[in-house]
Amino acid sequence: MKAFTYQRAKTAAEAAKAVASTPGAKFLGGGTNLLDLMKLQIETPTHLVDVQDLKLDRIEATSEGGLRIGALVTNTALAADARVRKDYGVLTRAIVAGASGQLRNKATTAGNLLQRTRCPYFYDTNQPCNKRQPGSGCAAIGGFSRQLGVIGTSDACIATNPSDMAVAMRVLDAVVETVGADGRERKIPIAEFHRLWGDTPHIETVLEKGELITAVTLPKPIGGQHFYHKVRDRASYAFALVSVAAVLQKDGSGRVAFGGVAPKPWRVEAAEAALPNGAKAVAARAFAGARPTHDNAMKLTLAERTLASIMAEARA
Ligand code: SF4
Repeated sequence: MKAFTYQRAKTAAEAAKAVASTPGAKFLGGGTNLLDLMKLQIETPTHLVDVQDLKLDRIEATSEGGLRIGALVTNTALAADARVRKDYGVLTRAIVAGASGQLRNKATTAGNLLQRTRCPYFYDTNQPCNKRQPGSGCAAIGGFSRQLGVIGTSDACIATNPSDMAVAMRVLDAVVETVGADGRERKIPIAEFHRLWGDTPHIETVLEKGELITAVTLPKPIGGQHFYHKVRDRASYAFALVSVAAVLQKDGSGRVAFGGVAPKPWRVEAAEAALPNGAKAVAARAFAGARPTHDNAMKLTLAERTLASIMAEARA
C-alpha cells in the first residue's frame, strides 16, 4: 500500500473542503471497497478524510411521508429498519442479497452507491483498463466478458455497476443529497447520479471534487408487492449476473429496474407500460439497443426470465 495521510473530519463542510483542496484526497466511510483497492494499488489516495464522526447515521421520517437515510447508515441497519421492511421491501431484499453479513455491518449507504465495478480486468494491474488508467485500453473487450455489461456500455468500457441497493433505490425514485466544498447543497435524482461510461469510464458519478453525500431520501411509499431477484454463479457473496427489482401493483402497473447489465441501475420507464403484456414485452423495450458480447448475450434471456419469475410469483 502507498503511504497516505489521514484526517478525521468533524463536520461535513470540513470534510468537503479538505477533499476539494487536497490533490489526490478521498473520503473514507466504511472502507469496505476503498481499502481493498488501496491494498491492490488500484486506488492510491494521498490523503484520507474519514467521515465516520459526522453523525450521518440516522434514518428519519420526512415531512413528505418518506424516509431520509443518513449517508453513514450501515447496510445492515437500513435493511433491518422496521419502516424500510414494511414500506420499502424491495430495498431490504436487495441489500440482504449483497455482500456478506460482516461487510453489510460496516458498509454505508453512501459507500454502496460509490462502490467501483467488479470487472476482473479492473482488478488486474497487469491489464489495460480505461477505468483504472484512462487511455490505456480495455482488456475486457475481446476478453472474458461473461459478467460484464450488455447495454449503456461504450467502446471504452463495458463494465457494470455492482450495487444491489442502487437497483432498488432506482425503482423507488430515491434522491441523493450532497454538500459541496462551497457549502452548496444538491438533491440529485438517483436516475441521474451514475453516469454512462462514454469516453471517460473513470468518471462514474455526477459528483464534483469534494462533494460529499449526506443522505439518500426515499419518497413516500408506493405500496404494491416488492421483489428483488438476483441470479448469480453461487448462492451468496457473489455479484449479479442479472438482478431485477420490481414493485408491482394489483392493477397490472408497476416499476422495474435491472442490475448487473449496465453502468448504472437500468430502468426504462417507457418499458413499464408493457407490463400487462408480459416480461418478454418489457424486456424487449428495456433492452432495445443492447450490444452484448459473445460471452454475455445470455443476460438478455436471463433478464426476461427473471422478470417473468417475479410476475408469476406476484400472480400467485
Ligand atoms: Fe476496465 Fe471497463 Fe474495460 Fe473492465 S470493461 S477492463 S473496467 S475499461
